Amino acid sequence: MPKKPMKLDTSIHAEANRQMTICNACRYCEGLCAVFPAMTRRRTFSDGDLEYLANLCHSCGACYYACQYVPPHEFAVNVPQIFAQLRSESYYRSAWPRTFAPLFQRNGLIIALAATVAIALFIGGFVAMHDPDALFAVHTGPGAFYRLMPHETMVALFGGVFLFAVVAIVISVRTFWRTSGGGTIGLSDLLIAGQATATLRYLDGQRGGCMNEDEQPTDRRRFYHHCTFYGFLLCFASTSLATVLHNLLGWHAPYAWYNPVVLLGVLGGSGLLIGPAGLLRAKQRRDPQVVSSDTRGMEVAFLAMLLLTSASGLLLLVLRATPAMGILLALHLGIVFALFLTFPYGKFVHGFYRYAALIRFARESKLPVAGTAD
Ligand code: SF4
Ligand code: SF4
Repeated sequence: MPKKPMKLDTSIHAEANRQMTICNACRYCEGLCAVFPAMTRRRTFSDGDLEYLANLCHSCGACYYACQYVPPHEFAVNVPQIFAQLRSESYYRSAWPRTFAPLFQRNGLIIALAATVAIALFIGGFVAMHDPDALFAVHTGPGAFYRLMPHETMVALFGGVFLFAVVAIVISVRTFWRTSGGGTIGLSDLLIAGQATATLRYLDGQRGGCMNEDEQPTDRRRFYHHCTFYGFLLCFASTSLATVLHNLLGWHAPYAWYNPVVLLGVLGGSGLLIGPAGLLRAKQRRDPQVVSSDTRGMEVAFLAMLLLTSASGLLLLVLRATPAMGILLALHLGIVFALFLTFPYGKFVHGFYRYAALIRFARESKLPVAGTAD
């Protein structure tokens, strides 16, 4: 990817401003998604307004195919593409710590793979120092995983990077909220936005799906997004339950096949195989006119890391009572560590930014249009 300076790319904001001004005069797409009703509430667009609108957009392409002003028309309107660039810009400028943002944006996949190898080697080295034979021995029964690395060391390593990711995401979303307009949030706004996020209400541009190169809408992206989102939540639930069982009941992993920890993990892991693989495939089939090549690297890196996490986790489950367990555990933990590390700087954050934008949309939707447009 080309090098990016650590400052706002004003040309993207200027271009988005130009296109939104045309759309606001045209308003043909008023009924398509949340972007257009939000747009009509303002006559001019600050940088924050534009980032808010961009994060409402799901890049479905419906407005591009409906528009009479797309290139080669001299107005050259292409809302999904400019908004994709602007979303990336909003993640970039709100990221915390800011010095990490350009590093990860340029080299997201390389950093993730390097971190994977580093942690896998660290775990392998740790075992080699304490008990060289343990790495290839067959370990079974409760606590088998901890014969390679003590539970406390695992908690310190993964709890530390997870906490860092949570703090970094909270700070960056708060920055986005403030710079994009912010304001007081009501409980009903949170609930309305939560429902729209959970159901991907605006993903299809009200046309029955996302547009592809054949100009036919399909709902595949919604299905794959849902597999990824709910797969992730199920894996998170599985890990949280395992933590409770370990600390409160003294039940140590690995658990039996019928244990809810394993069942949730298998369901979630399957979702995280199907969803990211489908999204990668759907990405290939998108019309290049409605996506941004600038953001492709970051998106592919995130999906690839999710795929590796679920594939290595499921493989570990199948082979946990064999001599391959040691190497697979080291590899899986390395991938999970790298995934956590890249969370605040990659595509993962888009869900939080979209939720924040939908909260603002829910709040604005209650206000009279005439008052806010002036
Ligand atoms: S995308 Fe095109 S058709 Fe739709 S509102 Fe904008 S200018 Fe009008
Ligand atoms: S969600 Fe679809 S219709 Fe709405 S602005 Fe984005 S690309 Fe256009």
